[in-house]
Amino acid sequence: MIKFGPSGNDEKFYEQGHKSSKEVFEWLKGMGLDLYEYSFGRGILLKDETAVEFSKLAKINGIEISVHAPYFINLANPDQNQITKSYDYITDSIKKLLLMNGKMCVVHLGSCMKMDRGEALKNIKYNLEKYMDIFDEYFSKHNIFFCPETMGKFQQIGTYKEIVDLCVLHKSLIPTFDFGHINCILQGKLNKEEYKRIIDYLFDNLGEFKAKKLHIHFSKIAFSEKGEVKHLTLDDAMYGPEFEPLAQLLIDYKMDEVTIISESKNVMAQDALKLKNIYSNILNKNK
Ligand SMILES: [Zn+2]
Repeated sequence: MIKFGPSGNDEKFYEQGHKSSKEVFEWLKGMGLDLYEYSFGRGILLKDETAVEFSKLAKINGIEISVHAPYFINLANPDQNQITKSYDYITDSIKKLLLMNGKMCVVHLGSCMKMDRGEALKNIKYNLEKYMDIFDEYFSKHNIFFCPETMGKFQQIGTYKEIVDLCVLHKSLIPTFDFGHINCILQGKLNKEEYKRIIDYLFDNLGEFKAKKLHIHFSKIAFSEKGEVKHLTLDDAMYGPEFEPLAQLLIDYKMDEVTIISESKNVMAQDALKLKNIYSNILNKNK
C-alpha cells in the first residue's frame, strides 16, 4: 500500500489547539496518514534532541519521516565558496534525517543563474558526483536516499528528464517527482498521456527498483508563462493537475512502495488524506 502524508503542519492541527510538532505524529496517525516531511527550506533550526524525540514519537505512531533540504542549495553555482555552503546544508540535512530515522532527503538542485542550461547542468552533474562519493558511507550504511526534485520554474534545473538522467549517476539517487511543478512546466497540460510518458521514462531509464521507490510531491499549483506562481489546495477548480490518472497509473505499474507528500497550502494533511482516499477507491474498483 502506498503511503501518504503532509509537508509541515496543517491549519487544522493548530485550530485543534496543538502547538508543538512533537504532537503531530499522534495526530497524523489519528487521521490515518503514514508520512511526515519536515522542511528545512528556510534553514536547519531543528535541535538534535528534538530530532531524536521526533524519531521516537514517529516510530510509536507508525509515521515515516523525510526531510526537505534548504532552498539555498545551488549545485550549479560556479562559485566554489557557495558550493561549500551547499555542501554543508546537505550534510546537515542528512545528519538530522539520520537522527529522525528517516530515509529520504529531498533537494532542489539549483538554477541557471546567468549560465546557459547546458553549463548549469554540467556543474550540477560534477558537484553531485563529487558529493555522492563523499556521502557514499551514509548511503551504504544507513540506506539513505538523496531525492532531487522536479522544479516548477523554467529558470530552475529540474525537468523530469533532467532529474531522471541525473539520478542515473549514483545508486542512492531517487527522483522526487513534484507533479504540480511538472504541470507548471507543461503549462497545464499534464493529462493521462503525459503522466504515462513520464512514468515510462522513469522505468526505462532508472529501472524497476528505483522507479518503484519514487518519492512524490502532489499539489495543485498556479502558474504563469514563467512557471510556478503559488501552491493551492485540491479544491481549486482553475489549476491542475488531477490526481486520478496518476493514481490509476501507480496501480497499473504496481508502484506500491512510492511515498506521496501533499504540499497543499494550509490543508496539507487534509489533502493528503483526500489523495489517499482517491487512491484507495480506485484500488478497490480495480480489484
Ligand atoms: Zn521542494
